[in-house]
Amino acid sequence: MSQALQEQIEYYEARAPEYDDWFYRRGRYDWGIEKNLQWANEADEIRRHFHEFRGFDESLELASGTGIWTTEILRTSEHVTCLDASSKMIEINRAKQNTRRVSFHQIDLFAWEPTIQYDLVFTGFWLSHVPGEQSDQFLKKIAAAMKPDGLFYFIDSRLARTSRAKDHEAPEVDTGISNRKLDDGREFQIIKIFHNPEELVARMLNAGLKADIKITDNYFLYGAAHGC
Ligand code: SAM
Repeated sequence: MSQALQEQIEYYEARAPEYDDWFYRRGRYDWGIEKNLQWANEADEIRRHFHEFRGFDESLELASGTGIWTTEILRTSEHVTCLDASSKMIEINRAKQNTRRVSFHQIDLFAWEPTIQYDLVFTGFWLSHVPGEQSDQFLKKIAAAMKPDGLFYFIDSRLARTSRAKDHEAPEVDTGISNRKLDDGREFQIIKIFHNPEELVARMLNAGLKADIKITDNYFLYGAAHGC
């Protein structure tokens, strides 16, 4: 497992410069106007929902990547602490935000132990990369990183062929492992678990988090949780 997690870190480090092509539907992720618009509308649905929660002092973003969601968190937080294992992801995110209201730490989240409690803990497209056997422990760490009245907000992927790059094979079943290619053809295997919302609610409850989880029509799962 540690080999798979290391490969996952290496994959994202190598993918950092092309990562945003996925979210903004460019290049190998461009599935045409109709599907791209559907994707953008579903992402907007989440953005609107997230901004219904307002006024955080200290926020924590886990696996912050290139900062697609850091930008949104900054709109509603005084300060954001971003944790990610990839120095390139951090470099891109830092350049985008260009503010002292965000601080970055390069860290392996599987070695992370929360020592501070936050008003908001946020993670986008990360829970799907946590192996099943580490999931309960990881969710407990998230709960420990929240203030008693804090919020956990999360976004993740649904299994959808047009979510992936056109040159990726579509897994017919959810195997927990995903083969990924970079623009230059290099290939990696990473953990990718497409969570069932009901099961995730139950897992979160077990970790002390009461979650409300929604899905968009095709592409995303998202939700908010409070301590219980
Ligand atoms: N949250 C961002 C978003 O929504 O666009 C990025 C999500 S991306 C799918 C996964 C992120 O997890 C990458 O930025 C990658 O560098 C980071 N990552 C992978 N393994 C990690 C680990 N063990 N510890 C910390 N970050 C890790």
